[in-house]
Amino acid sequence: MKISRIDHLGIAVQSIDDALPYFENTLGLKCYAIEEVADQKVKTAFLKVGEVKIELLEPTSPESAIAKFIENGGKGVHHVAFAIEDGVANALAECEAQQIRLIDKAPRMGAENMSIAFLHPKSTAGILTELCEPAK
Ligand code: ZN
Repeated sequence: MKISRIDHLGIAVQSIDDALPYFENTLGLKCYAIEEVADQKVKTAFLKVGEVKIELLEPTSPESAIAKFIENGGKGVHHVAFAIEDGVANALAECEAQQIRLIDKAPRMGAENMSIAFLHPKSTAGILTELCEPAK
């Protein structure tokens, strides 16, 4: 697979409203989009840091994976997302051939009109890994 850059860091927060002042007022970053992803039971807020983005993730339901992450003591960086140049489906096939555990067997729609898929941290040095590309 061909990775062009880190697309974004996903950061789990209890509340976007509570977290944003740090990112905006202290770090001077600008939130340019807030979007709910019903499918994943999260509300997202996006900020740009040069070419890389920060994706704040707030759970909208106790069943959300983000709610469970926070409940289990997780806080801060939740996942790293790589921008794939030659297709997420193609990258997944490569990973599967190398016995990497997949969370998503096929790409699905994420925030910002991106086609995304997650790899299991058991196979990725403990880092929940997202592969993404703009959806066609
Ligand atoms: Zn993400």
